[in-house]
Amino acid sequence: MKKFIEAIATGLDATGLFALMENFDKRDQQFRVLTYHRVGYADESPNLEPGLISASPVAFRKQMQLLADRYKPISMAQLLAAHRGESQLPAKAVLVTFDDGYEDFAEVAWPILKEFGVPATLFVPTAFPEGEARGFWWDRIHAALLQTELTTLQSAPLPELSLENSQLRRQAYKVIRNHVKSLPHSEAMAWVEQTLDLLGQPPPLNQVLDWDSLRKLAAEGLCICSHGRDHALMSQLNTEELSQDLKESQAKLEQELGQYADAAVLAYPANATNTRVRRASRQAGYELAFGGQRGVNRLPITDSQEILRLPVVGYNFGLFRALLLPTVIALGNQYFSFRSKVST
Ligand SMILES: [Zn+2]
Repeated sequence: MKKFIEAIATGLDATGLFALMENFDKRDQQFRVLTYHRVGYADESPNLEPGLISASPVAFRKQMQLLADRYKPISMAQLLAAHRGESQLPAKAVLVTFDDGYEDFAEVAWPILKEFGVPATLFVPTAFPEGEARGFWWDRIHAALLQTELTTLQSAPLPELSLENSQLRRQAYKVIRNHVKSLPHSEAMAWVEQTLDLLGQPPPLNQVLDWDSLRKLAAEGLCICSHGRDHALMSQLNTEELSQDLKESQAKLEQELGQYADAAVLAYPANATNTRVRRASRQAGYELAFGGQRGVNRLPITDSQEILRLPVVGYNFGLFRALLLPTVIALGNQYFSFRSKVST
């Protein structure tokens, strides 16, 4: 299905249609927010969940070139100023954001962003840049499934999962991921540890940028904002846990980044939000919160606690180009959504 849609997009792109639509798309006061996770090659980091790779370095470079040539990349500061009514956004405004703070952001993405003068925002779950927590549960499960000598996994309440070959291990990963995301956060994390004990604990992954690296990036102009504290699905936290996660994440950013902290902006982990989460986010003082649904935003922003995003999930160039066109987004929401269900 993805290949089919990509082929159509490439064919349409070759006719010059997308370039024409880009030229005509001069509507003011609307902005797109692109969401990336990792930029890299799966075989260079086999222990990390490959589904989080948004683009290869080559594809990312081409995407940033398109933004620089045909769009107006904006910074978070510009968006906040427009939201406060202090200034206007240029037509074709695009905000580039990254979630989770993987090391390949600094190694691969940031140099390319700087080369094309594209401002960026990094959403960091603040418990992860230090200490033993520097590995996300989905990567640890992926790594454990890769290295385990088990041929079946029996971790209640899931049915027995076969691990006979790499395809079945991939299927098992998806079953596990969906189960974890269905549980209240603390229960989910306990279940993950119990399952990792069965599989065999993976080596420490340490693939999240530490605070020194983040301070250096911030000094170079990167905007760093909150992605919660524990990367918990906020919809799976109780009211007290939710309030703590939101407030402690802000406090940690301010403590570690000082003048560079942009602690009043949040991206919901895994885009998981609901009315209760949005209310808590507003109460915790977040001026803007990103996530929820995919789409293009307009100013004035109707709900500051649900800024729509466009996840980039390994699209080829034609599909990436289509992703940015509001008309195509409106027509193709249901088609894109099948690729938007990434785990973080
Ligand atoms: Zn995330």
